[in-house]
Amino acid sequence: MEYIPFGNTGLTVSRVGFGGIPIQRIDAEGTKKLFEKLLECGVNYIDTARGYTVSEEYIGYAIESLGCRDKLFLATKSMAATKEAFAKDIETSLHNLRTDYIDLYQIHNPSMEKLDTILAPGGALEALFEAKEAGKIGHIGLTAHSAAVFERALGLDFVESIMFPYNIVETQGKDLVVKCREKGKAFVAMKPLAGGAIEDGGAAIRYLLTDPNVTVVIPGMFEEREVIENTSFDSSPLTEDEAARIEHIRQTLTGNFCRRCNYCAPCTVGIQIPSVFLFEGYLERYGLEEWARGRYAGLAVKASECIECGLCEERCPYQLPIREMLKKAAEAFGE
Ligand code: SF4
Ligand code: SF4
Repeated sequence: MEYIPFGNTGLTVSRVGFGGIPIQRIDAEGTKKLFEKLLECGVNYIDTARGYTVSEEYIGYAIESLGCRDKLFLATKSMAATKEAFAKDIETSLHNLRTDYIDLYQIHNPSMEKLDTILAPGGALEALFEAKEAGKIGHIGLTAHSAAVFERALGLDFVESIMFPYNIVETQGKDLVVKCREKGKAFVAMKPLAGGAIEDGGAAIRYLLTDPNVTVVIPGMFEEREVIENTSFDSSPLTEDEAARIEHIRQTLTGNFCRRCNYCAPCTVGIQIPSVFLFEGYLERYGLEEWARGRYAGLAVKASECIECGLCEERCPYQLPIREMLKKAAEAFGE
């Protein structure tokens, strides 16, 4: 395992981290076993979220049972926008993770409007500053799916790390990732396998490890064999074979695959198009049915409400047949 400074925080993290979404598929004991393997393989960066149902609790159980808190860099996040709600989430995370200190607390995927609320008086940022002052959290980060939010976060001094989808076929953040490093902020590459769409995990992880602008790559894992495989790579230059495999993935992984760039917005009736496809991916590829259905249920406008005006398709740079894809998603979710 290779280690790297986490931006300007003074902390060092493993290049390959642990994405804590998929452990919702196992249980607390299974998570403990997984953590034994993570420690054995040198992983110290642990990513979870208040929104990942039982993930924080399972991780907390594993940490306490193994007595390994001091060996880990713990990162979690909250979608709350107000000071009160965010402060409550920080306390819940501390309780769930069974610790008195979280290394990185992140603002979880805010929209531009929500970010306004977070930064305004009475907003979540005040809770983050107070928690930092009180020594409950070490550093503040932000996660985004929208390039516009990523770009805005680059200009926010208190943001010490940014997490964004980045992989062989989702390179819409490439220039921003470079700027992120230039500004001394850590960059966390989420969705390294494009939400399960990339099957060649080796090529996907190596593509990111060989990018010096990427601080840490966080594949979601719930099986020990995934930990062993994902931690077996280094950052040596790509071989010809690997470069060819990466190119092959780029060429073949086209068709109905949403890169979550959000250029299709705004939808005429308010459908959050990339969110629909994101949740559908969790449903179809991650096997996280209950969670995916829960998050889909939270969308104000469902895929079935598309009036087929076609405006989104004119804006999609990948010429995706969005209307057809939405029909499929509506069928999968039943609404
Ligand atoms: S075609 Fe459907 S999804 Fe696209 S903009 Fe129109 S209503 Fe929205
Ligand atoms: S549907 Fe197209 S434009 Fe919309 S987020 Fe996906 S890839 Fe981007």
